[in-house]
Amino acid sequence: MEVTEKAPAKINLTLDALYKREDGYHELEMVMTSVDLADRVTVRSIEENKIVIRTNSGVLPLDRRNHAYQAARLMKKTFEIDTGVEIMIEKNIPIAAGLAGGSSDAAATLRGLNKLWKLNLSLDEVAVLGEQVGSDVPFCVYGRTALVTGRGEKIQPLGEIPQCWVVLVKPRVGVSTGTVFNVLSFDDLVHPDTAGMVQAIKEQDYVKMTQSVGNVLEHVTIERHPDIERIKTKMLTFGADAALMSGSGPTIFALCSKYSRAQRVYNGLKGFCKEVYLVRTLK
Ligand code: ATP
Repeated sequence: MEVTEKAPAKINLTLDALYKREDGYHELEMVMTSVDLADRVTVRSIEENKIVIRTNSGVLPLDRRNHAYQAARLMKKTFEIDTGVEIMIEKNIPIAAGLAGGSSDAAATLRGLNKLWKLNLSLDEVAVLGEQVGSDVPFCVYGRTALVTGRGEKIQPLGEIPQCWVVLVKPRVGVSTGTVFNVLSFDDLVHPDTAGMVQAIKEQDYVKMTQSVGNVLEHVTIERHPDIERIKTKMLTFGADAALMSGSGPTIFALCSKYSRAQRVYNGLKGFCKEVYLVRTLK
């Protein structure tokens, strides 16, 4: 028997850091939504009692460094499962991009194993387990759109966002999330309008949504990688309604209400960057 789960990428419509906590983490407040760019994760029982990762990606770790492996190991240990599992990851989401690809694979693994091993856990219970694998995993367990707080583990589902097209551009630069947070200074932060974003989603107000996007990490990553600013400017010049970096970067996304505009942004950026995607927000 095998189970296949879709593992969609997320984007941050907003990302705010409120303060540094005593445990060293930042208290976050983010509005996240899933987009229709997804990995596919298939879990299947095998006779030998071990966790085997297979993938079409040439660069993913196949051992305990893989987030899907960590998710399976946690499930096996928690529920004392003594059969083996093979996890096939069809990778479509760019890696280390600010799109939570690894977290989404882990979440899909947890959901898939819940079915494969007939554990009958609720999504809330799966999300609590996910917290132990990584901060973005609880959101990825539910997907859709949510207000996410704490380290990322507190999820308040929001309704559907006004549907639109999303152009994603992943520049060829490496960003370390840890470093970005470490150099973040609270003195000069321009906080995004999270309440305005939540309101815009409630009211299905697309224009207000595009006006409320913001990410406190953006200027930190742009200082190190000025190409990100150039890509944003190009997106807006080609007609995007909004353009913003996702997570700690380096991926930048553009929102467009019209498909023709999204195509123009996509075609314009394609000449500049290799990894460009045109997708929809997820219903
Ligand atoms: P986030 O937005 O949550 O910070 P990200 O999109 O920036 O995530 P990932 O694609 O999750 O980053 O990859 C981060 C690191 O995790 C990479 O160095 C990668 O090698 C490792 N990794 C482990 N397992 C996976 C996986 N299944 N998919 C992607 N990356 C993985």
